[in-house]
Amino acid sequence: MRHSSIDLHTHSTASDGTLSPTQLVRAAAEAGVRMLALTDHDTTAGVTEACTAAVKHGIQLVPGIELSAMHRNRPLHVVWLAIDPEHEALRAGIEVLTRVRRERARAMGEELRRLGYVDVLEQAIALADGAEVTRTHLARVLVEQGAARSMNEVFKRYLGRGKPGYAAAQWPSLDEVVAWIRGAGGVAVLAHPLAYRWTGAWLRRMIEGFCEAGGEAIEVVSGQTTPSEMATVAGHARRFGLLASQGSDFHSPDVPWHRIGNLPALPDDLQPVWTRWSTTPSD
Ligand code: AMP
Ligand code: MN
Ligand code: MN
Ligand code: MN
Repeated sequence: MRHSSIDLHTHSTASDGTLSPTQLVRAAAEAGVRMLALTDHDTTAGVTEACTAAVKHGIQLVPGIELSAMHRNRPLHVVWLAIDPEHEALRAGIEVLTRVRRERARAMGEELRRLGYVDVLEQAIALADGAEVTRTHLARVLVEQGAARSMNEVFKRYLGRGKPGYAAAQWPSLDEVVAWIRGAGGVAVLAHPLAYRWTGAWLRRMIEGFCEAGGEAIEVVSGQTTPSEMATVAGHARRFGLLASQGSDFHSPDVPWHRIGNLPALPDDLQPVWTRWSTTPSD
């Protein structure tokens, strides 16, 4: 299977994406994706629907989830691939994450009310339409209310870490989250390692913690990774002996820089993460 036809990080309306799992799978198939992981934030609610659609389109659906966690007081995301959606550790973990997410959404709604933006949480709940509220939902409402012109601006001014509408969440520890993943026989992938904007020293420290906790893979290609960013993360994959993953982090067709599939190939010397569950040789 060609590397460019594999996308192991995507979102649907089950979290903060704009396509339903069925629409997402169709879009992936149309983009030439042959192996797709659905990795919604802290939920597997879309996996069953995605599996059904994948059978129809003849593509391989890898059940996944993107978990929120904390390490050394910093939030980070762990993509868990090849999960058993029924596993007990996962079900219990999702309950914890849902509680934390709801508490934080409420706190952020309060902060935004103090800033003069009323009913943001209520409108975000309506927009999420049964999914748990993420900052993406709050941001869409704030753009609608005219608080900023773009999603990026909303995060810069209100919802980014440390900004006036932000509330820190007490996500479970990285150790805890990776233990669930390994206990359920899945693969833990450190998501978009450069998106946190940590310094080089912090990035190494965080990857070290991820490895100590039992993490096995790192996203070498994520979204619009530049060649030099890819080389940086590939270097960390080699240094720490991690498997390499690739995923667009697709959320919506409205965001042109996070297109589904069509990712650059991983460096040849790295072992792709999908060798952990797929016997299909790369061509
Ligand atoms: P949460 O998991 O609730 O903290 O929400 C995080 C989500 O916000 C990420 O997964 C992104 O989808 C979205 N996000 C973060 N920063 C930005 C940004 N600058 N522009 C648009 N979306 C963003
Ligand atoms: Mn998201
Ligand atoms: Mn993420
Ligand atoms: Mn993501």
